Amino acid sequence: MSIKITILGAGPGGYIGAIRAAQLGARVTVIEDDRLGGTCLNWGCIPTKTIRATAEALETARRFSEFGLVHDGTVKPDMKAVMARKNKIVDTLVLGIQKTFDHYNIELIEGMGSVLEPGRVRVEKKDGKTVDVTGDKLILAPGSKTRKVKDFDFDRQRILTSDQALTLDEIPEELVIIGGGVVGSEFGFIFNELGARVMIVEAMDRVVGLPSVDPDSSKILQREMKKRKIKLFLNKVVMRTENLGGGKTRLILGPSPFLKKIGPKDKKEIVIKADKVLVTVGRDSKNRGIGLKRLGLELDSEGWIRANEKMETNIPDVYAIGDALGPEKVMLAHAASAEAMIAVENALGGHRVMNYDCVPIGIFTSPEIAGVGITEAQAEKRGYEYRSDTFLMRGLGKSQAIGRIAGQTKIISDVKTRKIYGVHIIGSHASDLIAEATLALKLGATTEELASTIHVHPTLSEAMAETAYAALDIPFHPKAGL
Ligand code: FAD
Repeated sequence: MSIKITILGAGPGGYIGAIRAAQLGARVTVIEDDRLGGTCLNWGCIPTKTIRATAEALETARRFSEFGLVHDGTVKPDMKAVMARKNKIVDTLVLGIQKTFDHYNIELIEGMGSVLEPGRVRVEKKDGKTVDVTGDKLILAPGSKTRKVKDFDFDRQRILTSDQALTLDEIPEELVIIGGGVVGSEFGFIFNELGARVMIVEAMDRVVGLPSVDPDSSKILQREMKKRKIKLFLNKVVMRTENLGGGKTRLILGPSPFLKKIGPKDKKEIVIKADKVLVTVGRDSKNRGIGLKRLGLELDSEGWIRANEKMETNIPDVYAIGDALGPEKVMLAHAASAEAMIAVENALGGHRVMNYDCVPIGIFTSPEIAGVGITEAQAEKRGYEYRSDTFLMRGLGKSQAIGRIAGQTKIISDVKTRKIYGVHIIGSHASDLIAEATLALKLGATTEELASTIHVHPTLSEAMAETAYAALDIPFHPKAGL
């Protein structure tokens, strides 16, 4: 008799895990309270990138004359049509998962799951009925939800979560985004391009200030924000908000508690106004109230599940993956899917471990940011003897031809062995370009191997080879783009 696996949650963690388990011959039941695809497909990766595609098309349209094109009419977004397109794309992809589930005979039970014991999950179905699902192995993939900090009155009208921003059918005139992290910055560029006056309030001293993001990338992105008239308030937090009536909000900004020293200039309050306030200050766990405490599962103080690199929890036969592990791991869709495959294969007798050093990140701002491996600060901390080499995107023929010249590539490599430790890219299609770097890191490649890999000309991928040549002290276009 084959092993029976129960998976709680059908995001990119849960549904990929389910397919992999079925491929390996397990009998699989997935419990999902909302729609297949989870946050990523319904409220994250796909809806944002679909709306972003509209913003990019609009940007290209605005630059028609630069490309020698004449157009006589106006081009402007119709948000109802934009949202309809987004919904259609999401529906198509949800259906695609459903069909794959059917193909692999994966059982889907729609409802809220709560763990009774490692081998038994109770599901409260949408029709009010209850069913108990039993299995040999349990994989927890409940994901995360928008963080609703107490200081804000989330009324769906003036003050919104990222979920709610993805259903706006009008572009706000003035949009204030609280939190200049990945999600906030992505929304900032999208709504700026669609015509809103965007302001971003960020408590740290840089945008997208994750430890894995190269500080140069933040700096270049901030420069691009300025060029596009996205107003940025760094080292600031919202002290209070006032409802001005008529859908308007006043926000009073003060110094960030993260500031090491607060001077008189920092203390000065700044007052701004908004039609919509979008709060993107991180994600919260969905791990409470689903029986995990009863199970004796180890959670951290924020409620995120603790799992080792085999994706095992402290309870035998119970695995956990994806966003449910919190920011100590990597809260990205492809990380959840990778963890899912490892959890499933281990649940079926394998011995795989997750290599977090090789998880790439992608940030879909304009230009995009991507990275894999360590930053210079992390190399420093580890005591590595490293060098850091860069190449400006504007030096590439392809960048010039397509009119996307902002950005740079950076390779951090070992001085002696030339082994690549990290690659950080900001520029057009950075999230696609990082795939080569990810493979290079996974295979333990050197800058010599990267440089001697032939890249198609003219492509943006040549930036990788150019940077590798720089790391070998034989740059071919050292002055290009300066
Ligand atoms: P989720 O996708 O959150 O799925 C969990 C599922 O479990 C949900 O469907 C939920 O309904 C269900 N569930 C939870 N509890 C229960 C229960 N008790 N019973 C039944 N079902 C339950 N990542 C990227 O890699 N690239 C991007 O471009 C990107 N863009 C993003 C943009 C936004 C605005 C946001 C918010 C996130 C974005 N992310 C992106 C992050 C990405 O969405 C998450 O990392 C990913 O969805 C995590 O996958 P998961 O399977 O762990 O959880």
